[in-house]
Amino acid sequence: MPSLDPAIRDALEARLRFYRELGVTDFYRRVVGPSQTIIAAFETDTLNAPQEGTPIPPRKPMQSLPPVAPEVAPTDRASALQLIREDIGDCTRCALHKGRNKIVFADGDPNARLLFVGEGPGADEDAQGLPFVGRAGQLLNNMIAAMGLKREEVYIANVVKCRPPQNRTPEPEEANTCSPFLFRQIDVVRPEVIVALGATAATYLLGQRQPLAGLRGRIHSFRGSKLIVTYHPAFLLRDPRQKKEAWADLQIAMRELGLKAKSS
Ligand code: SF4
Repeated sequence: MPSLDPAIRDALEARLRFYRELGVTDFYRRVVGPSQTIIAAFETDTLNAPQEGTPIPPRKPMQSLPPVAPEVAPTDRASALQLIREDIGDCTRCALHKGRNKIVFADGDPNARLLFVGEGPGADEDAQGLPFVGRAGQLLNNMIAAMGLKREEVYIANVVKCRPPQNRTPEPEEANTCSPFLFRQIDVVRPEVIVALGATAATYLLGQRQPLAGLRGRIHSFRGSKLIVTYHPAFLLRDPRQKKEAWADLQIAMRELGLKAKSS
């Protein structure tokens, strides 16, 4: 491999450090040129069998999680989601509870056709108890508006519901402990399309760790919904050049939903 100019090498190292601080751990080289009930949601809580890429560590056995069967099946999505929130309670199931202020359950319409999944709460989200309310959230709001939708019309949740220290990427133990609640939420909302925001969301929804480049630009399947993978808004804030590619991903979602972009 040819040796790099020291200045270029230093710049590259700084950039990699910066991306790792953002939680981006997968890099690639660009080549130029309800279930009907909540109970069933847990019963089907298995990762899709990885076809390629590196499998992520297995989930904790389901019996380590608390019982989730409601006495009476809820009759509407909002009530079903409320039961999931009650199951979570003042959760101490993983280490992330130690540093949180508020559990960030979700935001949006329980009957949404489109559901966004991010990685986990940041400082603003932890303070307010709502997902995507900081700068990245503002960008996500803009992305949603560009799709011709309002934030209140979609559903937004994260892989983990408590803020990881220093906004680090959730550990597999943490993500595997918390994500069954997300899967139950997805099974209740039953969106037509899910957009995974970033590598962590894509990893825990698809059950395989793979660079985003290999997952973007096509339609995956997850628990009966179409799944599209794109960049996390926090990443787009730091590298706005990728917004064009993110918009191409969102346009796939729009096509599946029969949406047309609003003309400015
Ligand atoms: Fe519980 Fe999820 Fe918070 Fe961990 S991240 S303490 S599993 S709510």
